[in-house]
Order: sequence, then structure tokens, then C-alpha cells
Amino acid sequence: MSKHVIVAIDGPAGAGKSTLARRLAARLGYLYIDTGAMYRAVALMALRLGISLDEPLKLEQLALASQIELTPDARVLLDGQDVSEAIRQPEISQAASKASAVGGVRRAMVLLQRRMGESHSVVMEGRDIGTVVFPQAQVKVFLDADPAERAGRRVAELRQKGVESDLAEVEREMRERDNRDRTRSEAPLVQAPDAVYFDSTGHTPDQVEEALLRIVRARTSNGKEADR
Ligand code: C5P
Repeated sequence: MSKHVIVAIDGPAGAGKSTLARRLAARLGYLYIDTGAMYRAVALMALRLGISLDEPLKLEQLALASQIELTPDARVLLDGQDVSEAIRQPEISQAASKASAVGGVRRAMVLLQRRMGESHSVVMEGRDIGTVVFPQAQVKVFLDADPAERAGRRVAELRQKGVESDLAEVEREMRERDNRDRTRSEAPLVQAPDAVYFDSTGHTPDQVEEALLRIVRARTSNGKEADR
């Protein structure tokens, strides 16, 4: 039996999943997998090709035909081209949320995600990792935070990249996206019954990292003994 460990981190936008999943993966020596980046890459491709987000069959074909790779240093390659920055544009967030509601697109991405977890121990973050992609994951965390704090973090993150944004607008955009993610029929955002709920409101990334590391260690022998 494989000794690979799957750490699944799910939760709404801006809860701190990417930062924490990346830090945890570095601490444990596991691969970090950002599944949202994969849906973003499909959405980017659709927009570039002029494919409507209301055409499920075309989106599914696109998802099956596109080559999406996540490099060990967390770059995102779409058909060999580095799209790491392009997929972070606000219009891609909304487009990814729409494209990810398509069953065929999800099936194509889930296949790729399962393959990534077959050969390595991983920290995988998204919306359905503990419920659909790896329901047998040894460690599941549902990371949450207060909506105002989540929006504030996103504004600060954008400012660091030199982009000024409006807090109320960011909060509205996040609410819309979370609502779509929570209410869709295919793999809605929901906490797995066996996931640990963690509210990161008011905690520093260091504090959340230590808390999550304790959860990983409690659920595996010590998190380091697994095959990488
Ligand atoms: O995580 P991120 O915000 O980058 O994800 C972008 C969008 O991709 C989400 O709003 C969600 O609609 C979708 N997504 C998903 N399932 C995942 C990861 C992301 O549906 N596992």
C-alpha cells in the first residue's frame, strides 16, 4: 500500500489556503498543488479563444485538450506557456468560478489531480479536495475566515503586487464567487464531515501554520515518515 500522505485543504476564497498550503508543503517536504490554478488556466484559455462560459461541451473539450502543468516552484504552465501572472487577474477569478461549475471540466481536472497525488505526498488546496478528489485523504482541513478579513487580505495581497483595489468591490466579488461555489450542483464547496474546521480570523500565518502542522502530526505518525 502507498505510504503517500494527502493533506487536503479546502475553504472559501481568501481564507489563506494558498499561503498555508505552500508553507505546510515546504515544512513537510511534500508537493504543493494549487487546484484553483488549474480551473483558472482553463478559464484563461476559454477567454483567449473566445469560448463562451455558457458552453459546457466546448469547455469540457478545452479542459481535456489543454496541457496544464504545475511546476515544483508553483508556476503554472498552459500548453507550455507560463501563465502564472495572467491567471490572477480578477476577471479570471470570476471566469474560473463559472468554468468550474461544468461537470466535464471538473472530471478532467479531478483526473489530473488524482494522478498528482498517486506519486507524491501532497498538500492540495481547493474546494472539493477532501470531499471529491481524495475522500480518503489522511488529513483534511476546512480553512475559513471572516468575510471582511478575507477581503482585506486580498486587497493587501494585490497592493503588494502594485494593484490598488476597492475593499467593498473585492468583498462583493468574493461573496458572489463563494456563493456560486457553495450552491453549484457539481462538487459544491462544503466541509467534509471528517475535516478539521479552522477559523484563521485574527491569526498570523505563523500561528495558522503551527496549528495546521499539529493537525497533520496528530493525523499521521509525524508527517515526515511518509514517502514523498
Ligand atoms: O482557489 P482559487 O480562488 O484560485 O480558485 C478559483 C476558482 O476555481 C474558485 O472560485 C472555484 O470556483 C474554482 N475551484 C473549484 N475547485 C477547486 C479549486 C478551485 O471549483 N478544487
